[in-house]
Amino acid sequence: MSHFLSDEQVRIRDVAREFAQVEVSPRAAEIDNKDEFPADLVRRAAELGLFGLMIPQEYGGLDAGITTTCVVLEEIGKASPSLAGMLSVQIALCPVSMNTAGTPEQKTKYLVPSASGENLMALSATEPSGMMNTAAHQTRLTPDGENYRLNGLKIFCTQGSATVYIVGGRTSVDGQEGYGAAIVEKGMPGFEVGKYENKLGWRGSNTGTLIFTDVLIPRENILGGILTGLGEVSGLGGLTGNLGHCASALGCAEGMLAKTIEYAKGRELYGQPMTALQPITYWLSEAWVKIEAARSLLYTTTRMVEEGRIDPNMIMACKVHVCETAFEVCNRLLQVWGGHGMMNDTGVHRYMRDARVDLIAEGASETMLSGIAQSILA
Ligand SMILES: Cc1cc2nc3c(=O)[nH]c(=O)nc-3n(C[C@H](O)[C@H](O)[C@H](O)COP(=O)(O)OP(=O)(O)OC[C@H]3O[C@@H](n4cnc5c(N)ncnc54)[C@H](O)[C@@H]3O)c2cc1C
Repeated sequence: MSHFLSDEQVRIRDVAREFAQVEVSPRAAEIDNKDEFPADLVRRAAELGLFGLMIPQEYGGLDAGITTTCVVLEEIGKASPSLAGMLSVQIALCPVSMNTAGTPEQKTKYLVPSASGENLMALSATEPSGMMNTAAHQTRLTPDGENYRLNGLKIFCTQGSATVYIVGGRTSVDGQEGYGAAIVEKGMPGFEVGKYENKLGWRGSNTGTLIFTDVLIPRENILGGILTGLGEVSGLGGLTGNLGHCASALGCAEGMLAKTIEYAKGRELYGQPMTALQPITYWLSEAWVKIEAARSLLYTTTRMVEEGRIDPNMIMACKVHVCETAFEVCNRLLQVWGGHGMMNDTGVHRYMRDARVDLIAEGASETMLSGIAQSILA
């Protein structure tokens, strides 16, 4: 992969690699075990300038592009897929969303402090009635004079302890149903964060419930205006941001492969190294092949995006293929560890659990396949 990268991209990758190996890796098992938000590591990522990767220079960022951003998240994913998952929201999803849909004033107000690490961002669409089932969403933005009132409940919000949230809600425009996104700040009267979920993977990411009771949303905090037609809601996330999530999943598979190779080389079975067993070597080399194929798809797509060829099908294909591959690889490689892989002491099952979440978070694989089907069957 590095032969495709510019000198500047290699420099940024190496910063991320060192951060991942020296600072994140020793903490990864603890984040998973304790299920505690790693505020110091998130702050450190900001200090290293990583929050600004997708933010334009005029708003204080590096404007480094989606390829570089994915390379960074891949490196962090190798050490801690759950930290990479959180950071993909902070570094990719939210800035892309705000940069795509936000007004210049919103970008100045929210992206500048995000680039500097002052703002922790989250994007919240999912409700108890489902994420994609927007027609059933109960969260509403009701016009109140020049402004809006936000009422409703959101669930499963990564970085629920953020300071700035992009929150989707239904509304009506001239009697027609519509959808909007409010920029909600921590501390706005009527907004509270409920429980954090205790979950299978992405532990430590503060997956929160958000409760809105008559929150006054100034008109200037409506992201990119109100959209008529519920189908437009996908514009909320800016699909490109999803690629960051794919990169963290790819890193997860690579991290699992590296750990498993090391383990297999050191494990003796029947008086010889375990790597003398043919199924073991096949699983390792199959994992390598699958990872390389997934990586090719991901970085072909990031380069297409950077050339201005944003093809939603390619992005959805990445979400399905890279994430499904990551889970397949992690699940298969866990078998190499036998009973040891089931134990908390080896800590390796967190890769399989984190990869499992990737098949759901930011859109289940099947919703991506449905999206692709609609397009190719049209
Ligand atoms: C750890 C974690 C972090 C998350 N972070 C966020 C976040 O930051 N912000 C946020 O808004 N949400 C977040 N989510 C929510 C996540 O995006 C949703 O859980 C996911 O999109 C699935 O939606 P759902 O849970 O409502 O499942 P449901 O909508 O009930 O779907 C259940 C299953 O039905 C199938 N299905 C659903 N719709 C379709 C369709 N259109 N076509 C084909 N099959 C379909 C799929 O197999 C799906 O898995 C997070 C979830 C997790 C687990």
